[in-house]
Amino acid sequence: MNQYELTVCGGGTAGVAAGYIGAKYGLKTLIIEKNIHLGGTMTSALVMPVMKSNTNNINCEFYNDFIEELKKYNGQITYSDGNRGWFNPELSKIALDSMLERVKCDVLYNTEIVDAVTENNHIKSICISAKMLSLYIDSLYYVDATGDGNFSQILKNNILKNPNSRQPMTLRFHISNIDMKTFSQWLLEIDKDRDVTSVYEVNGETHLSTACTWDMSKNWALRPIFEQAVKNGDLKEQDTAYFQIFTIPGMPGTISLNCPRIVLDKDIDPLDPFAASKALTLGRMQIWRLYCFLKKYFPGFENSYISNIADMIGIRESRRVEGEKIYTKDDILSGKTYNNPVLHADYPIDIHSYNKDGYTLQHTKVDYELPLKCLKASGYDNLYIAGRIVSADFEAQAALRIQSSCFSMGEAVARDVINLIDKK
Ligand SMILES: Cc1cc2nc3c(=O)[nH]c(=O)nc-3n(C[C@H](O)[C@H](O)[C@H](O)COP(=O)(O)OP(=O)(O)OC[C@H]3O[C@@H](n4cnc5c(N)ncnc54)[C@H](O)[C@@H]3O)c2cc1C
Repeated sequence: MNQYELTVCGGGTAGVAAGYIGAKYGLKTLIIEKNIHLGGTMTSALVMPVMKSNTNNINCEFYNDFIEELKKYNGQITYSDGNRGWFNPELSKIALDSMLERVKCDVLYNTEIVDAVTENNHIKSICISAKMLSLYIDSLYYVDATGDGNFSQILKNNILKNPNSRQPMTLRFHISNIDMKTFSQWLLEIDKDRDVTSVYEVNGETHLSTACTWDMSKNWALRPIFEQAVKNGDLKEQDTAYFQIFTIPGMPGTISLNCPRIVLDKDIDPLDPFAASKALTLGRMQIWRLYCFLKKYFPGFENSYISNIADMIGIRESRRVEGEKIYTKDDILSGKTYNNPVLHADYPIDIHSYNKDGYTLQHTKVDYELPLKCLKASGYDNLYIAGRIVSADFEAQAALRIQSSCFSMGEAVARDVINLIDKK
């Protein structure tokens, strides 16, 4: 039997922060990850940059150390709005390995949790499967940081009910060999009021961001080009639902596309294996249409090519696990404060929709705080939940799911375990 003080299931955004901080402060820590690298949605689903939230956030030691590590590989820039969270997903895999190795956190790749041995409301050990072998891990505390709450599903934890609607999934990709000079000049010319476009030089590299969606909330400068492509049969209406791009540090001439948003006439349940598999197929077909469209309509893309398609579909929400407290939309909007909170944030309630003009972004007037009770699973005395599975209602999760908040959640659960073990 392998003995640990902290076992983190899922080495993604929240899980890697939990594992790193736990091991850095002396806990015998293990991360179990089903993929072959750390980072989860950040690396596998190609989701970047870290959204800017409150500059007074807490539990940021992992994030600060991650930024410093990335700098060693030229895998990070600070953008013109002061956001230091523009990172390179490929180099992040190396940076995270190096960080976890340094603090002596054990990591098991290619490994999934398949079962748990419990007694009353206590988890005694878990069974993991690696290359068709089963192995038992014994730990004092556990974290479900699997994004989809896969560990909680095994434990039969209470899953919070969803409203009738869901948020769409997105399959992200990269396009490389873009003539950035030509493209950025054209973009600045098109988006004269710079409403959604920014171009910025960092260390001799051109960095930029722009967007265009089918919601009429903004006067999108690129909108007429998308409409023309639909008329010409080069795009389908659903391909215009959401288009957003960011350049990537250390990858000159490459953009990360926060699209296609996969929309059908009915909402897709990311936990339904048939529907989720279909979404992948549709997503890749959309990627091809979008790429051909960009090559034809956007100057600078003439010699470009698709260089990466995410190996994990981007899921904004699936299972939310019931904790000792369920955080609500009112908690977000009222800015309620707590003793020893997990995070301070001001990121808005950001709900993507399947419907045209269905997107909602609700800003908060005051900062909000998250209490630790939302990260303590209600069913077990030694189980935490961290990341987008946080115990929160649908709307509150839509604010809490950003990467900086997930880092703080992971870090906070590790710190709680450190305190508990110290006190014993
Ligand atoms: C399309 C899209 C765009 C987004 N844009 C942004 C953005 O620009 N900025 C931002 O800050 N946030 C953004 N977000 C939100 C943010 O990226 C996610 O909410 C966050 O990364 C989720 O972190 P997590 O730790 O909960 O899950 P993940 O990072 O997905 O980690 C879960 C990990 O668990 C592993 N796992 C799953 N099941 C098992 C198992 N049974 N055994 C072992 N391991 C397992 C997975 O492989 C993965 O590594 C976006 C999200 C999406 C989907």
